[in-house]
Amino acid sequence: MSPPKRLVLFDIDGTILWGGPLWKECFLGAISHYFPDVNFPKVSFGGKTDIQIAREMMDAMGFDDDQINDHMHKVVDLYVERALACATTRAHEVTVLPGVRELLDELAAHPDILLGLLTGNVKKGAHAKLSCVGLEEHFKFGVFGDDHWDRYKLPPIAVARAHQMYGHHFESKQIVIIGDTVHDVNCGKSIGVRTIAVGTGHKIPMEDLLAQNPDYYFKDLSATFEVLQAILEDI
Ligand SMILES: [Mg+2]
Repeated sequence: MSPPKRLVLFDIDGTILWGGPLWKECFLGAISHYFPDVNFPKVSFGGKTDIQIAREMMDAMGFDDDQINDHMHKVVDLYVERALACATTRAHEVTVLPGVRELLDELAAHPDILLGLLTGNVKKGAHAKLSCVGLEEHFKFGVFGDDHWDRYKLPPIAVARAHQMYGHHFESKQIVIIGDTVHDVNCGKSIGVRTIAVGTGHKIPMEDLLAQNPDYYFKDLSATFEVLQAILEDI
């Protein structure tokens, strides 16, 4: 069998699904457990890894490096526990974004494509979210927020892991990153891979995404044929 021609890596939140305030509630609840009396600072969660969010929140709350290093993994572990609980009790609050189910079915069945995740979620959190909408089975491969706290370090880890698991070295535009934030686009561009920006993120202006010059932009992923073409055409 010939090796796949594309490694297609999906972000989760705002790209595959949307959970409204659910996951943020789990995260803030985990922080409150350890620090009950603090006010939450305004920290954007978009495009960041779970560890990075925990670090930035605690930093903005005025904690020093030792306190942050002591607590960031505990906060993320408790967040995951809560997310897993919500995946059984509040899964109905999570929706799959337009066209995603159909696109993933096509990609999973395509002989030229190795399908995976590139997400700031830690692995258990990613699976909790995907299990809410029954899509976890599509992703046997992925890189996660527990592989590195810096999202920009994840693309090379994905390439190395794909090589290790499947014996094939993907490079440049054979690798496709699909996501809803400027960080998805820029982490892909930082190693010269193909980037597809999608406009289904929460309050992310199209102009902000287009300003990063992704290879492709779609308002959502419902145009299955066009998205497939963007993934497979030679550029
Ligand atoms: Mg996202």
